[in-house]
Amino acid sequence: MIKQSLKKTKILATIGPASSGQEVLEAIIRAGVNGVRLNFSHGTHDEHAEVIDRVRRISKKLAKPIAIVADLQGPKIRLGNLPAEGLPLIAGQKVEFAEGESYEDGIIPIQHDISQYVKRGQPVYLRDGLVEVEVTRVTGKSVHATVRNPGIVYSKQGINLPETDLGGDILTPKDVEDIKFAASHDADYVALSFVQTAEDIVALKDRLKKLKSDMAVIAKVETKAAAENLEAIVEVSDGLMVARGDLAIETKPETVPVLQQRIIELARDEQKICIVATHMLESMISSPQPTRAEVSDVATAVVQGADAVMLSGETAIGKHPVEAVALMRRVIIYTENNRADSLSASDFGEHTRRNAISAAAITLARQLNAKVILAETSSGQTARNLCSFRPDQLVVGVTDQQRVFQQLALLWGARSYVIKNPQTAAAETMQLLRHEHNVATGDVVVRASGRQPGVTGGTDTLHIQVV
Ligand code: PEP
Repeated sequence: MIKQSLKKTKILATIGPASSGQEVLEAIIRAGVNGVRLNFSHGTHDEHAEVIDRVRRISKKLAKPIAIVADLQGPKIRLGNLPAEGLPLIAGQKVEFAEGESYEDGIIPIQHDISQYVKRGQPVYLRDGLVEVEVTRVTGKSVHATVRNPGIVYSKQGINLPETDLGGDILTPKDVEDIKFAASHDADYVALSFVQTAEDIVALKDRLKKLKSDMAVIAKVETKAAAENLEAIVEVSDGLMVARGDLAIETKPETVPVLQQRIIELARDEQKICIVATHMLESMISSPQPTRAEVSDVATAVVQGADAVMLSGETAIGKHPVEAVALMRRVIIYTENNRADSLSASDFGEHTRRNAISAAAITLARQLNAKVILAETSSGQTARNLCSFRPDQLVVGVTDQQRVFQQLALLWGARSYVIKNPQTAAAETMQLLRHEHNVATGDVVVRASGRQPGVTGGTDTLHIQVV
């Protein structure tokens, strides 16, 4: 195993009031962040634009690629306004819900008409799944239910309807506006919340095509339907996020670890990126130290081969955003350098030309003890293909496309560079290998390239370069 101080598993950090300022943003990026997530459930377009601008300036200053992920709110159904002290729901109590703004005449308001979706006997979860009611009757637009798990509910909290098929286009008018904003503000990925079927992703991709956007699409797996339709969803997506917060409510908490492992494996097999999200270092929102279980959770995602691990509240609203990133980086590097086995594949999947090139490059690099594998890649596909086999060597991806340079920041085991001038590319690449990756005279570099630069899928040449 090659021990190194550069981590292969990447860190995606959610930006919020605790991290959006110049100083903390730069500090978390220096501490190990490779991508930032803008959560469109919060904040205004002006606020997001300001963060994007800051991220791009810091990225340039530090010569470090940063991927920007625009995370859409999706069809999140929320309660309306409730009494300020919250509304206690008691076990066995009969309650009534209806579309509305405020709590009136004992009717609990919901920002959306759910009467068309729910049926008698179905559960409705409130307050992140802590409170459960069971639908007993739907009359007109009123939903009557009995409280099964009691608790206090508060204004604007989200509602989960795990048995419900939302049907049709899941993008809300807000999502459509947010997509336009993200596409015109240099976002690299768009993440779709509450995906149920592959068609949801196809509809989003059609919309991106019309906007001439080159954002890649991440499907957030957080509904029961998505867990059931995984194979079809991964096929049409560019990446998957194990959105464990809502997934635990929709499918029961005990199913999530097994699903996580399956989603990571599936994403890797299909050569798509995979992000493990939510509650990774949750206690660090208020405490400077994580729990043992949280450290273990991050290490498990690394051992399973996720491309990236995500911080949510820890960096968005927490008291210790920089410490959370630094700790996560330490756990990743220790785990990668000291795990008993290697993730490196011995089976290179289907017999396609791309897989064969990767298999040969990885085998050459292994047998010649190469310092790095160099992928000259316009679309990024060669780097994605190589990295999906989790080679022991770092994959240095050199591209002429700024978007690809930024997107590769979240890819397991990749370090990307953008070099636009083909005349100077060879000399510039050698310089960065020497300066950034300690490649010295006599070291071996395995280079995968195409004879027609810029032609996607044209990688057809392997070169053993002795520096
Ligand atoms: C989740 O539910 O785990 C998640 C990542 O989604 P969000 O934070 O948008 O609710």
